[in-house]
Amino acid sequence: MSIWTKVLIGAVILLFDLLGPAMAEPKRVFLLHSFGSEFAPFSDLPGTLREELVRQWPGPLDLFEASLDMALFSDVDAQSPFADYLSALFAQRRVDLVVPIGGPAVSFIQRYRERLFPTTPMLFSGLEERRLQDTVLTANDAAVGLKVEQSSLIENILAVLPETNNVVVVVGDSPIEKFWLGEMRREFRPFTNRVTFTYFNKLSFEDILKKAASLPPRSAILLAIWHTDAAGVSRGSKGALSSLRSVANAPIFGVYDSSLGDGIVGGRLIPVSDLSRNAAGVAVRILRGETPGDIKAEPLGAGAPIYDWRELQRWNISEDRLPPGSEIRFREVSVWERYRWLILAVAAVVLLEGALILWLLSERRRRAAAQSESHRRLLEIAHLNRNADAGALSTSIAHELNQPLGAILSNSEALDTYLEAESPDLNQIREIVGDIRRDDLRAAEIIDRVRQFAKKQEPEPQEVDLNDIVRVVDKILAPEAKLRGIELRASLGERAVPVRGVPVHLQQVILNLALNGMDAIGERPAGNREMTIEAARNGNATAEVSVSDSGTSIPADNLASIFEPFFTTKQRGMGLGLSIVRQIVETYGGRIWAENRPTGGAVFRFTLPLAGATRNDRRPPSFTSSRLRTASLP
Ligand code: ADP
Repeated sequence: MSIWTKVLIGAVILLFDLLGPAMAEPKRVFLLHSFGSEFAPFSDLPGTLREELVRQWPGPLDLFEASLDMALFSDVDAQSPFADYLSALFAQRRVDLVVPIGGPAVSFIQRYRERLFPTTPMLFSGLEERRLQDTVLTANDAAVGLKVEQSSLIENILAVLPETNNVVVVVGDSPIEKFWLGEMRREFRPFTNRVTFTYFNKLSFEDILKKAASLPPRSAILLAIWHTDAAGVSRGSKGALSSLRSVANAPIFGVYDSSLGDGIVGGRLIPVSDLSRNAAGVAVRILRGETPGDIKAEPLGAGAPIYDWRELQRWNISEDRLPPGSEIRFREVSVWERYRWLILAVAAVVLLEGALILWLLSERRRRAAAQSESHRRLLEIAHLNRNADAGALSTSIAHELNQPLGAILSNSEALDTYLEAESPDLNQIREIVGDIRRDDLRAAEIIDRVRQFAKKQEPEPQEVDLNDIVRVVDKILAPEAKLRGIELRASLGERAVPVRGVPVHLQQVILNLALNGMDAIGERPAGNREMTIEAARNGNATAEVSVSDSGTSIPADNLASIFEPFFTTKQRGMGLGLSIVRQIVETYGGRIWAENRPTGGAVFRFTLPLAGATRNDRRPPSFTSSRLRTASLP
């Protein structure tokens, strides 16, 4: 045989080896459940066993399942018709493997195997070690069992709730449950000096619920095995656990991990899925042809400790009490844990925004305080400035007052003379008294005008006609102009020039400009000493006032600086008048500038919004620096 022929034959054998199970007849496996699907751990075991078998066996599988529900009852003879049924079912069908799940199914199969499956391999699964020891295994039998260490159930309870002194054992009253009750009583004995055990095996489930609702403090419930209650009513342990949990006033502990999540606290539990995986592994080996009796599988014990987070919370069990390496399932992630970064980011933004808003508010408050302080100071300075102006005018005012006061004096002397006459001319006397009264009123008017100007209390902004303002200033300045030999003209239009402002502020602006102009006229020769104050509308929206003089003019270099504070060319000047003037004008929404006249002298112009055109409800001007005009008259 050539080498290539050998290789070909080898490859074909390998292929058959690999594909053999897949191409072969389907393997027929019969799963026999001890109870219905509602009894832990049998509720979960067959399902996962089935899945594992399908997953692990590479070829087709023909799975039969049946449930030996009568295992719930103690009447073994009742099982005979069930055996007849199975006999009929499999009479024409070859079965490759029988898998009884749980003690009652194992007992049933052993009792009827000669009749039903005399040569079929058996895999006894879900059998507790103690039951397995009592089971006779033939060479055709394999077993995958489990081991429940009952004392560790109590140790777990005492580890997580050390103050427990009463353990209530919920257990049914069926034959298998009776067996386990006996086992528990025996194995719990070492704990009886510390814990009182109460067994609910002789109660109906309704009574169990009632009692579970009012257990004494420091109690715990162990739901050991639950199939049929003392009243003979069978119920699924899953439903029983959920009913018990809803009323119990003590934590519930269990045996299998399949109950975790349904209301038990947890502990070292039997991992049902591992049990199924082990059983499926052995089943596959048997189906492949291994002798069942040669397969030895260690019984599966409790797994690593696992706990239900919700139950730990409910019974206030600290995680510190759990054995090292414990796994906590069903942990509810709090909103904080889930969205921590988002919450932190949002909080940071909100805090930042809040801080920004607070800062802006405080800045606004500070600004408002600064504005009000600056306004207060402005009023103070403007008032001082007007006082200074009034002081500067004192000589001329005194001079002007002299005239009516002198007239009063000479009229009263004339009155004396008339009164000494034999028959005084009463009409004449009346006329003289009238003159005296008129002169007195004139003197009072001069004083009142200056007093009003220098008064500290200022009215609110109001609508005023600039013509009236100019008229008042003209009257105040007239004596000064006369004293200085200056021809003062007020040029007023026929139409009113309404603006909005505090009258004394507007008077102050014009008066300042005019006094500066008079200073500039200084020693100009007679015939060239004139000043004009003019108020007029400039278009529909603006009022314009100009104060022009025939003085020295302003040197071109200084034109840009004269409005700056402390700029002065005068010996006794402080350089504040024009900066105050500009502040007032700008505060009322206007503009001021100076230029030189081609014919000599300077002209100062300022504009203000016409009151009818732009309603500017402005507050009285607020200055930001203190300026005080000193008397600059010779
Ligand atoms: P002060 O009168 O105390 O000097 P002002 O601010 O009122 O302060 O004036 C600043 C300067 O502007 C004056 O010193 C002067 O040089 C110049 N100035 C103001 N008005 C006139 C004017 N009408 N003609 C020429 N120069 C003027």
